[in-house]
Amino acid sequence: MKAEIVSIGTELLLGEITDTNASYLASQLPLLGIDLLWVTQVGDNLERLRECLEQAWGRSDIVLTTGGLGPTEDDITRETIAAMLDEKLSVDAELERRLRELFSRLGFPMPKSNIKQAALIPSARAIPNLSGTAPGWWVEKGRGKQGERRILIVMPGPPSEMRHMWETGVVGPLREILQGEIIISRTIKTLGMTESGAAEVVKPLLSSNNPTLAVYAKTDGIHLRLTAKARTGEEADKMIAQRESEIRSLLGDIIWGSDEETLEGLIGALLLEKGLAIATMESCTGGLLASTITDVPGSSKYFKGGLVAYTNEAKISYGVSSSLIERHGAISSEVAADMAGVARQHLGADIGISITGVAGPAEDEGKPIGIVHIAIDNGREIRPILGQYPPWRHHVKRRATYQALFELRRLLVSMK
Ligand code: ATP
Ligand code: MG
Repeated sequence: MKAEIVSIGTELLLGEITDTNASYLASQLPLLGIDLLWVTQVGDNLERLRECLEQAWGRSDIVLTTGGLGPTEDDITRETIAAMLDEKLSVDAELERRLRELFSRLGFPMPKSNIKQAALIPSARAIPNLSGTAPGWWVEKGRGKQGERRILIVMPGPPSEMRHMWETGVVGPLREILQGEIIISRTIKTLGMTESGAAEVVKPLLSSNNPTLAVYAKTDGIHLRLTAKARTGEEADKMIAQRESEIRSLLGDIIWGSDEETLEGLIGALLLEKGLAIATMESCTGGLLASTITDVPGSSKYFKGGLVAYTNEAKISYGVSSSLIERHGAISSEVAADMAGVARQHLGADIGISITGVAGPAEDEGKPIGIVHIAIDNGREIRPILGQYPPWRHHVKRRATYQALFELRRLLVSMK
């Protein structure tokens, strides 16, 4: 089933409100096994709304609309649908009775303009609104020469009303029609390859349409997202597991995690498990590494602290060797190694991690933007890492931070 959302309201186009209705529905549709192919936002304008709805009705099996069911002049969703389907609007006696009852319970007479909220067209049935005045519409009709079944679901704009209606009056009937196709996704997270490099390695799997595989570049590396569709969750899980193991054998140890896992969370768990503490000394990342490590609740159990030493004087004042800086420059594997040692000893940790590099916008010490030296000192050996990132300041800082965490994870996994 192909679905499409039409979010109705001029406020959306003016940027006054964000289309949270569409994002909510977009998150719900996969749970029913429905593919969402289009989302459109359109203002409260009869012609343009009609154009939008006609297009949606012509190409999608299920069209979902939100907004424009209020009592005022600019709420024109019902009128537009009636015109599009060439059907006549008329007030439904039962809906009118319920609407009047609702107003009398609220303690005031129903304004005249609200009567249109009791209107239906012949191919619509009302979807009860348990938290507002406007009922929704469930329109079902054959379309085209073959007369294939098409469904138009019309819901109010206020997000709480819309959600309530979705949960109580839409999901159930939809599920019955669909007999439950299930979609399950899994994200495999990697670091150490470019987006196109990763795509090249998994190329044979990219053309499969169930499970599908997509490659995304994120700040913490390249993510590969698998999505499987099946009759049962079990079957979908099996399809994902099989494809995941193929991907794992293709990509090997550049894979660091999956789904909701983060590098900072994983290293935290490993450090706790091994009873080790870390400390950092950063130059070009300006404390971002320490900040990222402490994004994890409970990180005080394994993170001793971080030194941010931006200038050479600051580095020397903490104990970094001035002669190493003179000889190799502050952006060098030698100084990175020394910084990691200083962090470890100065802050009494088992492991010290350092980052020094050129974040830009200009080169430094004759070294190009994006060159970063990372070192990890565990008291027995020092692991040097050389990073080379795209030359944009924010990229360099973030990529270097995640690379340091990635290398730390690797070291911790390999430590007995
Ligand atoms: P009402 O009876 O309140 O007029 P309605 O069905 O006519 O309801 P709209 O007038 O389109 O709905 O929108 C009412 C309010 O609901 C908007 O002012 C906005 O706060 C919220 N809203 C509408 N559409 C959306 C949307 N797509 N995403 C988030 N909020 C929305
Ligand atoms: Mg309105």
